[in-house]
Amino acid sequence: MSEYRFCPLCATPLQPIAAGHDAGRPACPTGHFVFYDNPALTTFAFVRDEQGRYLVLQRAQPPFVGEWDLPGGFVEPGETPAEAIVRELAEETRLEVEVQGILGAFSSRYGDGGKWTVDIGFECALLGGKLRLDAEKSAAAWHAPDALPRLAFQGERSGLAVLLGRDLGSSS
Ligand SMILES: [Zn+2]
Repeated sequence: MSEYRFCPLCATPLQPIAAGHDAGRPACPTGHFVFYDNPALTTFAFVRDEQGRYLVLQRAQPPFVGEWDLPGGFVEPGETPAEAIVRELAEETRLEVEVQGILGAFSSRYGDGGKWTVDIGFECALLGGKLRLDAEKSAAAWHAPDALPRLAFQGERSGLAVLLGRDLGSSS
């Protein structure tokens, strides 16, 4: 059950739908609004430099302040996930990247008990730009893939497992 209590359109208290396909979903009794608790769409990227190292950023804002994560963020309306990750990298780091592929689609929560997200993981190559962090990040570092710090979000950790598993498989 959602924690939302009122219709965002008319402020009538929400009530669970009694029957049918959407039974149990909170809805405005006037019938003009149903609350669907769909996950939000995010992106993240493993950005590789010429030495084969990957970029990690330290979080300066909740959730998970002080923990390391990958560049990325929420997809805006009308944007493709690939456009979103290129935009986020420019905003967070001023770096220019080229999207080289999709690593997979993963699942996270935005903080402990937070909203569920679906995370599209990209692989990107560093093209250029001079690293300059925005206020959302407090530090940046480049590490070999097997030496990365623990990543803040489950989706990123799942993506790293895919990356490491594939690289191990191709070298044997
Ligand atoms: Zn309403």
